[in-house]
Amino acid sequence: AEKIVVVGAGQAGSQVVQSLRQKGFEGDLVLIGDEPHLPYQRPPLSKKFLKGEVSEETLYLRPKEFYEINKVELVSGDPVVRIDRAAKTVQLKSGNSVAYDKLVLTTGTKARDLPIEGASLEGVMSLRGIADVEALRPFLAPGKRAVIIGGGYIGLEVGSVARDLGLEVKIVELQDRLLKRVVSEDVAGFFHELHETRGVSFHYGVGVERIEGENKVEAVLLSDGTRLECDFVLAAVGAVPNDTLAAEAGLEVDDGIIVDGHGQTSDEDVWACGDCVRFFSQRYGRSIRLESVQNAIDQAKTVAASMMNETPDYDPLPWFWSDQYDVKLQIAGLSHGYEEAITVGSPASGSFYVAYLKDGKLVCVDSINHPRSHMMARRVMGQDWNEDLLPPA
Ligand code: FAD
Repeated sequence: AEKIVVVGAGQAGSQVVQSLRQKGFEGDLVLIGDEPHLPYQRPPLSKKFLKGEVSEETLYLRPKEFYEINKVELVSGDPVVRIDRAAKTVQLKSGNSVAYDKLVLTTGTKARDLPIEGASLEGVMSLRGIADVEALRPFLAPGKRAVIIGGGYIGLEVGSVARDLGLEVKIVELQDRLLKRVVSEDVAGFFHELHETRGVSFHYGVGVERIEGENKVEAVLLSDGTRLECDFVLAAVGAVPNDTLAAEAGLEVDDGIIVDGHGQTSDEDVWACGDCVRFFSQRYGRSIRLESVQNAIDQAKTVAASMMNETPDYDPLPWFWSDQYDVKLQIAGLSHGYEEAITVGSPASGSFYVAYLKDGKLVCVDSINHPRSHMMARRVMGQDWNEDLLPPA
C-alpha cells in the first residue's frame, strides 16, 4: 500500500490526514509531531486558555480515538531532523527513520527571536505553543508587571488577558502606532484607546536597547533611555516559518516552502501547507505566506485533494480574527497596499467596520464587533466599491 507521511502535527497536518481519509485514501498514514500533545488549535493560547477559562482538552483538534478509528499512526514528541529525498525517508530525533511514498510538510512557524542583549534571561518568553503558556502561567498573577515587546495581535491579546487578570501591562511598539502594516488609523486608534482605557500603557516609536537583570529579567531598557521595570517580558515580534528542514533537503524555499496552487513543492512527491508555505496568489498578484487557521485548513484540504489526483487551485480569500477584552475583530481579505480606507459607523460606539479599497475595488474589511459586515465582505470581496455593497453600520 502507498504510504503518506505528514511532518508537523498541528492545524494543517491533522486536517491533511482527516481529508485524505475522507477522500478514500486507504494506504498507510503517519502523522509526526515534535510536541508531546495531541494536535491542538493555537488561537486560545493567547485568549481563553491563557486566561485559564478552558482546559487543555478543549484545545485538541480531534479526540484521541479519531487517530485510531482512521488508522493514523500518530508519533508525538519526536521531531523530524532530516529528509532524505533520494531514499524517501525521514529521520527522527530518536534515531528512528520512517519511509514514505509521499511526504507532506506542515511544520508551521516559530516565534521570531529578539536579537538583543538579555533576551535569554529567565522571564523573557514568547508564545507559540502549550509549553509557552505553561511557562507564562506563574507570572500571570495580580500585581505582576509585564512588558510586552510588539503591538501585534499576539501582544495585544496577551495584554488584554493580563490586564483582565490584574497585571500591570506596558507594550513597546517600534512603529508609531499599532498594527501599522495591517490596519487603518481608525482601527489602530480604536484598539489603542480600548487598551489605554483598561490601563495598558504604550511606548511607540522606540526599540529595545537591552533587557537587564542578573539571572532573571528585571527591566527593559528602551532606545530612548526609558527603563521599564518588570517581572517578565513577552517577546511578540512575529513568527518565522519552519522551513529549514525543507531547505536542507534541497527544496525551493524563500521565507516559506514554495508550493504551487496544488500545494506541491519543487519535488513532485512532497507537498506542504499551512503557516510554513509561500505560494503565488492570483487574487493578489504576488506571492504570499499566511498565518491563519483558515489558510491551514483550506490549504490542507487542497493538498489532500491533489494527492488524490484532483486538480484544485488554491487561491483563497484569507480571513482572520482577534479577541481583546469584549471586542471581536474580524478581518476578511488583505489590506496590503490599500489606497483608501472608509470607516462605516463610529469607533466611539464600539461597533463599526472599515472597507479598504485598491483600484476602486474592495480588498479587505476589518469588522469590529460587527459580524454582519464580515460575513457579507467574504461574499462580495473583490467587487467594485459602492456604498450599498456592505450593510449599514
Ligand atoms: P501549527 O499549527 O503551528 O503546527 C505545526 C506543527 O509542526 C507544530 O506542532 C510544530 O511544533 C510542528 N513541527 C515543526 N517542525 C517540526 C519537525 N521538524 N518535526 C515534527 N514536527 C514539527 N490564527 C487565526 O486564524 N486566528 C487567531 O485568532 C489566531 N490566534 C493565534 C494565537 C497564537 C498565540 C498563535 C501562536 C497563533 C494564532 N493563530 C491564529 C495562527 C494559527 O494558529 C496558525 O496559523 C495555525 O496554527 C497554522 O497551522 P499549521 O498547521 O501550519 O502550524
